[in-house]
Amino acid sequence: MKCPFCKEEMKTGTISQDRYALKWVSEDANKGLLNFTPFIKGIKLTSMSNLTVKVFHCEKCRKFIIDEDNLH
Ligand SMILES: [Zn+2]
Repeated sequence: MKCPFCKEEMKTGTISQDRYALKWVSEDANKGLLNFTPFIKGIKLTSMSNLTVKVFHCEKCRKFIIDEDNLH
């Protein structure tokens, strides 16, 4: 994937979960609660059947990008 900021090729890698699924939680929904609890609504990035999520990284811009289509 090309970095949308500098247009250079991004590095591809993975982030893996430990005990709980990685989850993106909206700031609005995350009022003082721990976002690693399994009960908060959010977008699951990993699951028990899919322990890693593909992540693109641009070292130059210091950005990580996750494509929602890569989630299962
Ligand atoms: Zn970049």
